[in-house]
Amino acid sequence: MKTDDIDTKYSEKLYELSYDAANMCVQCGYCLPVCPTYLTMGNEAQSPRGRINLVKMAAEGKIDIINDLKEPMDLCLGCRACEVACPVNVPYGDIYGAALNVIAEKEKATKSPPTMSDKLLQTMLKNLFPKKNRLRTAGSFLWFYQSTGLSKITQNTKIVEMVSKPMGQFERALPKVESPTKRYKFGEHYKAVGERKMIVAFFPGCIMDAVMSKINRQSIELLQKCGIEVVIPQNITCCGALHSHQGEVDATKKLAKQNIEAFEELGVTYLINNAGGCGAMLHEYDKLLADEPEWKNRANKFVDRSRDITEVLAEIDDIPYEKEWQGVITYQDSCHLRNVQGVVDPPRKLLKSVPGATFVEMKNSHLCCASGGIYNLLNFEESMEILDEKMLHAIKTEASTIVTTNPGCLLQMRLGIERSGVKNNMQGLHLIEVIAEACGIN
Ligand code: SF4
Ligand code: SF4
Repeated sequence: MKTDDIDTKYSEKLYELSYDAANMCVQCGYCLPVCPTYLTMGNEAQSPRGRINLVKMAAEGKIDIINDLKEPMDLCLGCRACEVACPVNVPYGDIYGAALNVIAEKEKATKSPPTMSDKLLQTMLKNLFPKKNRLRTAGSFLWFYQSTGLSKITQNTKIVEMVSKPMGQFERALPKVESPTKRYKFGEHYKAVGERKMIVAFFPGCIMDAVMSKINRQSIELLQKCGIEVVIPQNITCCGALHSHQGEVDATKKLAKQNIEAFEELGVTYLINNAGGCGAMLHEYDKLLADEPEWKNRANKFVDRSRDITEVLAEIDDIPYEKEWQGVITYQDSCHLRNVQGVVDPPRKLLKSVPGATFVEMKNSHLCCASGGIYNLLNFEESMEILDEKMLHAIKTEASTIVTTNPGCLLQMRLGIERSGVKNNMQGLHLIEVIAEACGIN
């Protein structure tokens, strides 16, 4: 195929997938004040309106999909704050997803040869994230690395930072991994304490299951203590969010179908997750599978039953608190929980209910922390600029604890605490860690 033919093929595909949606934009600019990349980069190409315009032009064949569109789309966090702010409901997420998909396909068709980081990412997406046992093994290595003191040696000598500055900084911000012996089991039922109010399935995720399994264990024990029986589906897998962000539509659909099947086998009330990014992906399986007749209804039912854990806990009036919390707590929204799933009040309601705690809302808590899946690894400098600005607001609240509800955001906030030199006075926790601790679950 000649280069011109390739260009036309991908422009046409982009046109088909996104042109009508992109045409809905009336260029009013209401979305600009909520876009973190526009606020820090101050450049129209890094704004929602600018990106939509570029997608339109690429779909019309006026600009090149790789040379002109790829960078602005790569620098978009996918936080979807623009979608919520838009007065005419432009579906930015659909436009963004279509652009990523077409960029990835055209790159595969034309690029020679892939870079090392492309190869590494592809290997991880294919051979690590969907394989829960491999990820658990990686988590066990991390536990060994931390618990034997090896991590202290590498931190003091800054070896990791010499190889990769982002990896070095994130390594220091990683929470302590819990011993593999304390892990919950797939396929297991965990009985409710006292009278059973409902039975739910719990979505363990991949990163959460590997390196933050303590938060998953606490989630399960907290639900049990609130009278809810919990099942961990045997065949559940990665939600596909990272695959989707890399434009890997077929791989994302495959994971979605496996998760729908795993949930259907159980016949429980809800599928509960505790990670905003995963929850958002699960929440959009209906859109993902809308063009597959045999999956459409099953996906709709699945989405109807997917809940963030804060939605379920906020409905419980008698959370069995046992302890007083010390100090001020502030909250950083997970964009995918807030902007995609529309969950804004439940986490705040829960934090306000913790005995002894003072909740202080942080300025711009609704704006993205720039974690964005692996955005912070791929676009480290841009991400840190947004994070450092956010930390100024966090520090002003005088909070001793910043809470969030997504593993990526949690790591990012912990890194923000490290970078701004306040780690002696401030900690970053997942919301479940706070509620569980106040209920006497360690
Ligand atoms: S998704 Fe977030 S970063 Fe991307 S254009 Fe919208 S507001 Fe900006
Ligand atoms: S708010 Fe909506 S219509 Fe206005 S510029 Fe942004 S995307 Fe376009």
